[in-house]
Formats: sequence, structure tokens, C-alpha cells
Amino acid sequence: MARMENSEVASVFSEMADLLHIRGGDPHRIRSFRRTARILDNLPESVAVMVRFGTFGKWPGIGPGSVRRVKEILKTGTCDDHRKLRQELPDGLRDMLEVKGLGASTIRLIWNNLKVGSLAELEYAARNGTLLKLPRIGERTAARILKGIEDHRQRIGKIPYVRARRTGMSIVETLSELPAVDQIALGGSIRRGKANIGDLDILVAADEPEVVAQRFLTMPFAEEILARGTGRCSIRLASRQQVDLRILPPENWGAGLHYFTGSALHNIAIRVRGLKLAGIKISDKGIFVRNTENRLDPGRTEEEIFAAVGLPWIPPELRENTGEIEAAAQGKMPNLVTRDHLRGDLHMHTVASDGKGTVVEMIDASLALGHEYIAITDHTQNLSIANGLDEARLAAQIRHIREVEDSVGRIRVAAGTEVDILQDGTLDIELGLLQQLDWVVASVHSHFQMSGAEMTDRLVRAMETGVVDCIGHPTNRRLGHRKPSELDLERLLKTARRLGVAMEVNGNPGRMDLSDKHCRRAREMGVPLVISTDAHSPKHLRYQEFGLITARRGWVEPRNVLNTSPWSEIADRRRDRLRNKNWAIPGAPVRRDPGNSLPVHSDRPPASADHYPSLDEEEEEPASAAQPQQDVDLEAMLDAELDEDLRQRIDDFLRNGGDDVLQMALERRGENAMKVAFELLWGATD
Ligand SMILES: [Zn+2]
Ligand SMILES: [Zn+2]
Repeated sequence: MARMENSEVASVFSEMADLLHIRGGDPHRIRSFRRTARILDNLPESVAVMVRFGTFGKWPGIGPGSVRRVKEILKTGTCDDHRKLRQELPDGLRDMLEVKGLGASTIRLIWNNLKVGSLAELEYAARNGTLLKLPRIGERTAARILKGIEDHRQRIGKIPYVRARRTGMSIVETLSELPAVDQIALGGSIRRGKANIGDLDILVAADEPEVVAQRFLTMPFAEEILARGTGRCSIRLASRQQVDLRILPPENWGAGLHYFTGSALHNIAIRVRGLKLAGIKISDKGIFVRNTENRLDPGRTEEEIFAAVGLPWIPPELRENTGEIEAAAQGKMPNLVTRDHLRGDLHMHTVASDGKGTVVEMIDASLALGHEYIAITDHTQNLSIANGLDEARLAAQIRHIREVEDSVGRIRVAAGTEVDILQDGTLDIELGLLQQLDWVVASVHSHFQMSGAEMTDRLVRAMETGVVDCIGHPTNRRLGHRKPSELDLERLLKTARRLGVAMEVNGNPGRMDLSDKHCRRAREMGVPLVISTDAHSPKHLRYQEFGLITARRGWVEPRNVLNTSPWSEIADRRRDRLRNKNWAIPGAPVRRDPGNSLPVHSDRPPASADHYPSLDEEEEEPASAAQPQQDVDLEAMLDAELDEDLRQRIDDFLRNGGDDVLQMALERRGENAMKVAFELLWGATD
């Protein structure tokens, strides 16, 4: 049985605190629920384990009441007080709590005075001016609430692929323990690899459907049962996500798997093809003679379904009815890129900037994955928030990478960087130094608020420097958080093709950027792609799978992907481009020794400052000017599940302040850094 995570138990306490606050209750109790939520979120180990061994009750700040409630929550997903509060208040208040910028205090004000208890009512009250009658709510607040509702609508029901799959897999694991289960798989848009997932679909083949249904409906995270039958059951999770389970007879597995993988448009096209071509009807129950109940074949495998309409098996990522059926019929299906095709990873960070691993640790992890080459691409100085490298430190790092590469052998380690593209499209490292690197990723990490045309100009200008090999996370989208920049994709891709610059398919599960559609356009236009991880720790090196699935949805073949080539070809491309710019090509001796003119340690003044400003000159620049707009990976880390270090850092910030870098990152998520920090650590508060 899948165990509840500490954060899930904590969220029950947070919700109790919020609901009690809205309804009006003993402030002491509200504080106590919040405190328990906070403690649960910060426990060093699983609360389920601690309860079992009796150590939870001894934890500082935990009384017998909390222990009793936690036990109940672990068993049933809820507890007595929680259920009572939910019964007393309308469900819609919980949706309102999920609207950004709307805290429990404001909801309490609105609920107590207007009895507005759902998002629809709230929107109505904000639009017709009723809200303005309340104290503390002015035009601006009302406008912000409307914006929050709209954002919430866009988010609701859609969660990033990685989260949907994680939830789906934990349900799959629970159900696979049942002997009755013959086959089990994730279906729907998860199987097709979409970046944003609505409802979760789980498919099971079983002879005893009741047993499977029973287990599914009694799982602890099933918050609400929406439908129960022997063929289909639906639940809603605490996250509001809906999960549909289809239980198929084993003989029907292929037909059901195909049908419930979708997409709906693909299924329709397959059905039409069956009717036209062979006078057969394809459904989730199998293959039938047209207009009859006469079943020709139950469809045990997906291959049989496709074969019945004269097609080879089509990979799920392509099933969107965007030409895959025609391509399959003509024998022109793309030979999609797979993990085995990828020879290396060309975007990763180390402890030199904001990564967690040393160069050696990143190499070891890459070797374990079978990579032939990698590029170390730490951030540059504009990202002081991410401890970005200035020229002196970058030069020293080049030397360090060369040394480590020589001592390890076995793998080509390219000295690279992820250079920051400034607001005007210039790069924040001297071109002379960038030219000496083996691989340059250029990315935008600040000033996202510009028009699509301006952003395109900015990226084009960066590419035109000639030193850039690849544009990192080109649209800067953050799944569930930030929309992609509205780039002029055609102009961007045309420029990239002309200048021989690749576009990244960033595998960070919070990014998946380029998107599937953009990948497909890049492929059509002959712009090479690079499937990278943007790893900030050795374990992130596995994120290539998220870039892969995105590229596969874009019909991408190995020949469209630069890092399916041997390193020598990638190096040749760079050499050709630099030669076209009439730049000196860093030859082998220079590569092994990045030049006597370069400083090797940041604390030593450069021997010669011909190629770039000296450290002193650098310091004259008001380095903080651009900072308030900065973004970067700290924000990505804030988006993801917080790791222990970051929790500790936020906790320190709340206690002691003084962390300007963190404060800026928090302020970009909401106007009040303290409040955002609280929410991150302990869930929504007022
Ligand atoms: Zn980046
Ligand atoms: Zn990066």
C-alpha cells in the first residue's frame, strides 16, 4: 500500500488551520495546527515510520492530540476535525484557497460578509463591484483576485508531466501487488508524454475486477469517490486530481490500451479508417463487423488493433492525429530518437555555480549512464544569484576541467558555460574568452517581460555573436508557473539554421523546453536539437528522459539531434562557425592549456587583460543593477519539491533575514517575501 508522504499529512493540518481561521475558531488551535503542519513538513524521516516506532509522539512540539490525528490521517487520509470542518464549509472555499494572492484572512473577510464560497461567486462579486464594499479591498485587489482566478483556471486539472507520472506510478505499484492484476499501465496523456496532464488514466487487465476496484477505491489518497463500477472507477485525490481506473478483461487488453491511450482525435481517425478500409468497427472492446455485435477479434495486443486497419504499431507519443496515420500507411513513420541514441549531455552545472556536484562527481555519474562526452556549463556573472562565474573564475574553471578530463580519461569533458543573455541580447562574458570554450549554451534568465518580437531580437543578437552553440531553454516556460515567451519561432529557427546554432530541448521536468510542437517545427526546418538535462546534481542527469519524450512527440529522429553524433562532429561544427567569423580557432595546444594570458585563480590578478576587463574594472560596474529581475535555477528549485538544504535556507531567512538573493527570488513569486517563504515551508497561511 502506498504510504502517505509527510507533506500530504501536513497539508491536512494546513487545511484545518485555514478552514478553522475562515470559519472562526480558537486562535490557539489554529496556531497549533499550523505548527504541526510545519513540524511534519520538516521531519527528517517518514512520519508513518515514526508513528510505528512510537518516536513521533516524543518529537518536540507534538502532543497526544496530534499523534491521534496523524494516526487517523495515515489510515484514512483525513481525521475527525478535518471532516467536520469540511462539512461545515462549502467545498468552493478550498478552491479559493488555491488562488494565488488570496490568503485565508481575505477569504474569511469575503465569506463572513458576503457568503461567497466558490470561485464562480467570487468572480461574479469581483466583476460587479460587490467586493469593493468590503474594507481593505480596493480596485487593485479586486483586479488581482480576478487575475488569480484566471491563472487558477488555467492551472486547474493540469499538472506537469513528471508529477502526474509520479502519482500514477505510485498507484500502479500499489495495484500491481494484487495477484488478480494481469497487466497494468498508465494510459491517456501520460502515456503519450504530454507536458501538462489533466486526469490520470490507469489501465488494468484482470480476471477479478471487483478485487482491483476495491483496492483502488480504498487507497489512502482517494479523497473522494466519483464513480464505482467493475469496469471503471474514478477518484479524486487531495491534490484535486482525478484518477480514472479502467479494468479490462485480459483478452481485451490491446483494444482497451489503445482506446484509453488516445488521443480522442487519433482514435476517431483509426475508427474511420477501419470503417472505410475494411468495413470493421474498432472500439475498446475489440474489432467488430461494421454495424453488428459480431466480434472478429477481442484485441489482445495493440499491434492487432493497428494491423486490423493495415498499419504498423504507432508509438503513443505520435498519436495526436497530426499525420501519424498517413505516415504509417505510407511506411514513412519517423524513426524516433531513443535513449540509446544519445551519446552525451551538453548542459550541466557544478559547485562552481549553483550545482550540487563537483566536476568529478558529474563525470562519474555520466560514465555510469554510458555517456561518451559531457559539457560542463556553469552560470556566468550576471547570475550572481546562482554564484555565476566571471571571466577570471571561468578561465580557472576551463583549466580545472582540462586537468580533470586528463586525469579521468574515458570520457570527453567539454569546457563550456551557460552564458547569460542580457536584456539587450549581449552576452555577459567577453567574447574572446567564450571563443576559447568547447561548447557555449546561451540562455535568458531575467527580464522576461518583453514582447515576442523583442525577445526574438534578443536571442537573435546572442546567436549572431558567433560563439554560441546552443540556445538553452529557448522559451523559458515553467510548467504550471510561467507561460512561454511568445517568440517569433520562424525567425528564431531561420537564424539558428543560418548560423549553425542548435536549439535545446531542456529535460528539466519543470521546463521541457522547447515544447513538442516547437521540436517538430525545428525538425522540419532542419535546425539541430540538443537533448540536455540542465542537471544541477548528479542525479538530475537522468532528466534526459523528459527531453526525450518531448522530442519524440515532435517526431524527432536521431539525425535531428546533435548529441547523437560523436563529439568530433560537434567540435567540427563549432570550429567551422568560428572560422567563418575569422576567429582564431583554439587549436589542440590551446585547448590543453587555455592560454598564458588567462588567470587561473580568481584571487590572482590576470597576467594580461587584453581579452576582457580585469577584475577591478569589473567591480566598477554596478553589479546589482540588473539583479531584481534575475531568475534562474534558484527559482526552479523553489518550484520543485524543496530539498533539505533549501528548506534550511528559507528557514534561516525567516529567522534571521539577510539573504538578499533568496529574498529577490521569493519576491518574484509574490509581493511579500516573508509570506512566500512561509507558504513554501508550511503551506498557505494568511
Ligand atoms: Zn538556465
Ligand atoms: Zn542551466
